[in-house]
Amino acid sequence: MGIPQDMVQWQNGRWFRRSAATAHFFTGPRPQLEWLVRQRVLADPRVELVEGVETVGLAGDSSRVRGVRLRERGAGADKETRTLAADLVVDASGRSTKAADWLAAIGAEAPHERTLDTGLAYATRVYRTPPGGQDPDTDALGYYVVPNPGQVYGGVVLPLGDGRHLVTLSGLRGDEPPTEEGAFEEYAKRLPHPVISDWLARAEPESPVYGFRRTANVRRRYDRPGRRPAGFLATGDALCAFNPIYGQGMAVAALGAVALRRALADPGRTPTTRVVQRALLDASRQAWDISAGADKKMPGATGTRRARVRWTARSAGTWAGCSSGRRAIRPWGRRSARRSA
Ligand SMILES: Cc1cc2nc3c(=O)[nH]c(=O)nc-3n(C[C@H](O)[C@H](O)[C@H](O)COP(=O)(O)OP(=O)(O)OC[C@H]3O[C@@H](n4cnc5c(N)ncnc54)[C@H](O)[C@@H]3O)c2cc1C
Repeated sequence: MGIPQDMVQWQNGRWFRRSAATAHFFTGPRPQLEWLVRQRVLADPRVELVEGVETVGLAGDSSRVRGVRLRERGAGADKETRTLAADLVVDASGRSTKAADWLAAIGAEAPHERTLDTGLAYATRVYRTPPGGQDPDTDALGYYVVPNPGQVYGGVVLPLGDGRHLVTLSGLRGDEPPTEEGAFEEYAKRLPHPVISDWLARAEPESPVYGFRRTANVRRRYDRPGRRPAGFLATGDALCAFNPIYGQGMAVAALGAVALRRALADPGRTPTTRVVQRALLDASRQAWDISAGADKKMPGATGTRRARVRWTARSAGTWAGCSSGRRAIRPWGRRSARRSA
């Protein structure tokens, strides 16, 4: 889907101009994306997959990590572990990483953790648009009502292909989108523009409503001084997890992989763990500035506030190129009409 061309977006009482796409994003189902990535990784003969196990700790000591301890998945904590030896261990276990405990268990220091939590909560449901159910006045593929500090309800409709769409509604905890049948659609009426609730009225639900509440931005500063072992790195969400509303985490995980490849590219020169960790953090810096910069303005946000995010917060709140007026001429209309608006 091309952005902004294929998406109608509303924020702060204005429509974004649907000019030619400057970026494209994949909106298909997540399992499909995961499957494609998995096929690609496993096609590399240097990669060997160990299945049916989970990492439960690190091998080594506070000066150097020498591998991971594995246990059969689902086996009790009293069951035997085995060690998989490694020169380098990269924690890519996501937002719920246990690395802080694993490091403490070998006598090393956990990273300093910075969080910024807006208390945002999500609910998501899959819908099917009946034939002819698409808004007749638009050729848009997706719809987005963007929350902001003065208006905390958000909603997005994204195409999954095959006539199916993913609809996500968001609000702050305590007033979060409900997961009960019917109540979800009712909640959509709180959005400051009816474009999404009108769309829902034409669509048929295909799944239950799923809620999600762990949306804090979390950054772990492994690059900061501390008693940390060589041979251990963190990347992806295990290093820096973002409020998912900004849709950045997967791209940043990929940027981290590229940064890691670059840092280790010269076989004649092995960089220190800290240098590589800094390169991984740098790969996530811009996304952090966007996410934390915008979120720190949300009412009730808690956590760190750092000078570095200030300018980004301002730019994230400035929507150049918006068309004006909530009731301007059927503003989510066809792209050609909008060009002349
Ligand atoms: C509701 C929601 C919507 C999102 N929408 C978007 C979006 O639109 N665009 C976007 O770019 N990002 C989005 N994200 C963020 C994105 O999902 C993450 O940033 C991304 O998946 C991070 O990748 P990762 O590989 O670091 O971690 P993960 O994808 O979390 O993968 C971690 C893997 O490690 C495994 N694991 C965990 N612990 C262990 C262990 N002890 N032993 C062995 N394996 C372990 C897990 O099973 C998992 O397979 C969204 C996130 C959420 C929650």
